[in-house]
Amino acid sequence: MLLEKAPAKINLSLDVLYKRDDGFHEIEMVMTTIDLSDHIELTPLKENVIKIISENRYVPNDSRNLAFQAAAKFKERFQIKKGVAIKINKQVPVAAGLAGGSSDAAAVLRGLNKMWQLQKPFEQLASIGAEIGSDVPFCIYGGTALAKGRGERLTELTPPPSCWVVLAKPSIGVSTKTVYEQLNLQHVQHPNTEEMVQSLKHEDYDRMCNHMGNVLESVTCKLHPEILQLKEHMRRAGADSVLMSGSGPTVFGLTRQETRAERIYNSLRGFCQEVYVVRMLGKPLELA
Ligand code: ATP
Repeated sequence: MLLEKAPAKINLSLDVLYKRDDGFHEIEMVMTTIDLSDHIELTPLKENVIKIISENRYVPNDSRNLAFQAAAKFKERFQIKKGVAIKINKQVPVAAGLAGGSSDAAAVLRGLNKMWQLQKPFEQLASIGAEIGSDVPFCIYGGTALAKGRGERLTELTPPPSCWVVLAKPSIGVSTKTVYEQLNLQHVQHPNTEEMVQSLKHEDYDRMCNHMGNVLESVTCKLHPEILQLKEHMRRAGADSVLMSGSGPTVFGLTRQETRAERIYNSLRGFCQEVYVVRMLGKPLELA
């Protein structure tokens, strides 16, 4: 049996530039992995099948699961005629804007590469990942990166300055597809991605906080105004900067002080069911 961690990500900035002729959106995202992970257990099977085992009722256990799709594509690409059981121990909230499913898929690609001893480079795993979802290539490497195109053109970035991340997920589900459909690019405030990249390069915490932005926030907040209340609550509790991750609904706040992180956490409990305090992982995952 092989164990692989699947860490969640947050978006420090997310911009949508335009809708392309192929129907996809051209995006620019600065992402970083956090210390909140699903645990994936891979067990080889003699029979040529893919089995998903999950006790979370929101996670499908058939071919709709991104982890299943990852295994199927991996087997097809490398002509593997063996089977695998994939047990998903879910810790990352589902449909939350934290790329939980994408990270599971990436962990399966990394894990199968080890389990079947193929030693394929991460670039090949990322190219399989790009066929599954736009966040999967980033999740193969983890760490901190700028993602362009549909998410597949990645540039590694300096990890963010050390800080605490307080996450709060309201108990509403958000469909990424609906959010993109309702996005009107004429009426949004675009974040300055280059400023975010420079703030990381110069390890400037305040500049990073000042340039956090997510073009999808206005759409999701219009659908679910409680997200705005949650943001305001976090700010009042002492977060230096607050942003919605991905298409939401999870909101995160940053602080450099552990005591303040605890204060924000405590003030949110009772207001929101799912609250976490985590660190950023910063560095990319190892190719072991
Ligand atoms: P992103 O930030 O990449 O948009 P997300 O965090 O909003 O992703 P996920 O947790 O990946 O969303 O789940 C979105 C949907 O995908 C769920 O509603 C679920 O039905 C489906 N899904 C498929 N595979 C998985 C998986 N392994 N874990 C969680 N959800 C999965």
